[in-house]
Amino acid sequence: MNEQLPESRLSTTDEQGYRVYVHPIEVKGYWATLRSYTSWFLIAIYLIVPWIYINGRQVILLDLPKREFYLFGTTFYGHDGPLLIFLLLGFILFISFVTSVWGRVWCGYACPQTVFIERIFRKIEAFVEGGARRREKLHQMPWNFEKLSKKSVKWFLFILVSLHIVHSGLGYFVGTHRLIEISLQAPTENMGLFITMLVMTFIILFDFGWFREQFCIIACPYGRFQSIAMDENSKIVAYDEKRGEPRRNPGITRAQEGDCVNCSMCVKACPTGIDIRDGLQMECIACTACIDACDTIMDKVKKPRGLIRYSSENELEGKPRSVQTRSYIYLTLLFIVLVAAITQVNLRQEFRAQFLRGSSVPYQVITKSNTPDTIVNHFIISISYYRHHDEEIILALDGKYKDLGIKLVSNEMKIVMDKDNKKVNYFFQFPKTILEDGERSIQVNFMNVETNEILKTKEVILVGPIK
Ligand code: SF4
Ligand code: SF4
Repeated sequence: MNEQLPESRLSTTDEQGYRVYVHPIEVKGYWATLRSYTSWFLIAIYLIVPWIYINGRQVILLDLPKREFYLFGTTFYGHDGPLLIFLLLGFILFISFVTSVWGRVWCGYACPQTVFIERIFRKIEAFVEGGARRREKLHQMPWNFEKLSKKSVKWFLFILVSLHIVHSGLGYFVGTHRLIEISLQAPTENMGLFITMLVMTFIILFDFGWFREQFCIIACPYGRFQSIAMDENSKIVAYDEKRGEPRRNPGITRAQEGDCVNCSMCVKACPTGIDIRDGLQMECIACTACIDACDTIMDKVKKPRGLIRYSSENELEGKPRSVQTRSYIYLTLLFIVLVAAITQVNLRQEFRAQFLRGSSVPYQVITKSNTPDTIVNHFIISISYYRHHDEEIILALDGKYKDLGIKLVSNEMKIVMDKDNKKVNYFFQFPKTILEDGERSIQVNFMNVETNEILKTKEVILVGPIK
């Protein structure tokens, strides 16, 4: 990589616009250690959480086909969609607050892109191909046996890791127990999932294995958003120009030069290929690699650390750093949204029942000699019950409806709520004579068998022939 980076184009493209592949050197230091611990902690959470079961239930299970989302003891359904608004709003406010105070800390420490690339993919690359210089040399050499064998081994290991990442991700959506079953079956038995897995594996391989920093520079929406959320008080990784310049260069005497010895280690360490000495740039993901690289050099030349450090534009100009009013506004709004979301979750009805007409015809008429015609209405009753212990429920009619001759028939007269959501078939039988203009409204009670508590009363419209 050129040590003198061009100002008029991206540092990861050449004069013709072709990509210049970045081979950052590995740095050691305080921030590298902190980032390493944070990344491994996050990777461990990602891999372990889908295997944690409490009371027989996976602690996070996002069942998209059933539109059931189980999160740490609470189930959300498709009809809880409005809660998504709180979730999205809360996420935007949280990111805005964090970015306004700590800058791109998310990119440097928690973004899956950074975490997986730096902790796994780059490590594999270094293990197979060697350090940054050897990797660059290998990249530039013509195809020969050494290059082919090293690249093959590297991509084979990338594929293994990508498969593992994708399967762990699928565990959140199909359940890890089922994932094991599926994995032991032929792909043709679960073609949809198999194709999803292949596509996701390809995307991960492409992005983490090859596209890398280009995603942060070209495609990441957060990269653009951060320039709106950040201000002159936000934390940034910055080069102290006042202290560093004029950097060591031919023509500059030792007495004139600043603390920057122009070693380019900060550039060589940068995974997005930029020179932090050119000022705050959108490509900077605040990974802190340049801080550690420069601190190591400062130690060697016996100058104080921190020529590149966490700072803010105000701080660099010698002004006091303060948290801006808008950061407090973000925090206050975030708090309001959180309270509203918690209230909304607690106000959710524990018991919901929905009557859906069951067959293509609204009613059937059963004719018997010497008795009035009997009408049958078929309903599929969808019940959601948020309590997480098995309970038996029955549908009960008030005595006045029984006196009218209305009967309920089902093969599940006692509904055992052993899961949060159930569908049962019920047939309402009644004499035609109870209808007025072809319909009759009645009230149906859902009762707890054990306590006789009426959990819900629903209105049902029975229909039949008008004449
Ligand atoms: S400039 Fe420094 S902090 Fe920013 S991406 Fe490059 S190495 Fe990381
Ligand atoms: S690592 Fe530090 S001393 Fe070396 S070029 Fe970068 S800023 Fe200058």
